[in-house]
Amino acid sequence: MSEIRQLDEKTIQRIAAGEVVERPASVVKELVENSLDADATRVSVAIDGGGVEGIRIRDDGVGMSESELELSVREHTTSKISDIEDLEAGVGTLGFRGEALHTIGAVSRMTIRSKPRDGDVGTELRYEGGDVEAVRPAGCPEGTVVEVEDLFYNTPARRKFLKTTATEFDHVNTVVTHYALANPDVAVTLEHDDREVFSTEGRGDLASTVLSVYGREVAEAMVPVEYDAPGVSVTGLVSHPETTRSTRDYLSTFVNGRYVTARVLREAVLDAYGGQLDADRYPFAVLFLDVAPDAVDVNVHPRKMEVRFDSETEVKQGVTDAIERALLENGLVRSSAPRG
Ligand code: ADP
Ligand code: MG
Repeated sequence: MSEIRQLDEKTIQRIAAGEVVERPASVVKELVENSLDADATRVSVAIDGGGVEGIRIRDDGVGMSESELELSVREHTTSKISDIEDLEAGVGTLGFRGEALHTIGAVSRMTIRSKPRDGDVGTELRYEGGDVEAVRPAGCPEGTVVEVEDLFYNTPARRKFLKTTATEFDHVNTVVTHYALANPDVAVTLEHDDREVFSTEGRGDLASTVLSVYGREVAEAMVPVEYDAPGVSVTGLVSHPETTRSTRDYLSTFVNGRYVTARVLREAVLDAYGGQLDADRYPFAVLFLDVAPDAVDVNVHPRKMEVRFDSETEVKQGVTDAIERALLENGLVRSSAPRG
């Protein structure tokens, strides 16, 4: 150890950035959330080389003026809350911390082009390693395009931890899929190395969104869930017990519109299928839970999607009952199926 000293701004910024931006999928998550918060009806995500080489997100949302764009990349700048009271009252947006653009731009080369709805001019802002390089007028459609290149070019330790292109792509695909499923009224497209992975229509119905995302075989094996239980109401789609995969990646749960993970929810789904699933096989499930906002804590960890319920047992039972009933009504389960 040497003498104790204050770190310089750039070092602090990069250390902090590494905690928010772990991999291409974390960039995609933040940018898609921004597009959805901007009221977009179309969001296209195009990535190259698993997102390590490049990420491009285009939306038709409200856009930003030149001055808004310049503010957006600064530290802790947000249009979504103004004080702690707003936060306490509950935020209706996916973001509110005002750090994503600033942070992503600190560890990449980022270009944002944006034009407000009904605005006359678009603006392009280039940002590199945490510094604004250029701001100039640019011809662009209404909405916003964010391009991120050379992620972690200036944080080699972080870059070294990236996995193969295929693995990084899988993470991006999982993230985009969840937002597509959670927002059937938004047309979401994902492209990898110029090839379309999926594209939803944004017509508003979950069944056609599932068809676009998971394909026909899966879509045809899904049955609707709709159930009001004490403390939780559950809607969505679950698959026939024989339409399964070997990972839990296809159990998607959303609480009050937000994608979440919780062991109790996975167990609830599996319990409902009882002994009908083969060993180490998992069904497809897209489930939307509505619970009273004060009965759930989604802020267990800001970067993770874990959730905690006030009444875990009640929620778990509600989800299990909802699925059991859906399977039963569709003739997909024996009423005396063993539980466990
Ligand atoms: P946060 O989302 O927490 O507010 P960000 O750093 O992600 O913080 O974004 C900062 C601000 O930039 C947002 O509050 C919003 O006003 C603006 N912004 C970011 N992305 C977009 C977008 N795609 N369309 C319109 N405005 C955007
Ligand atoms: Mg944001």
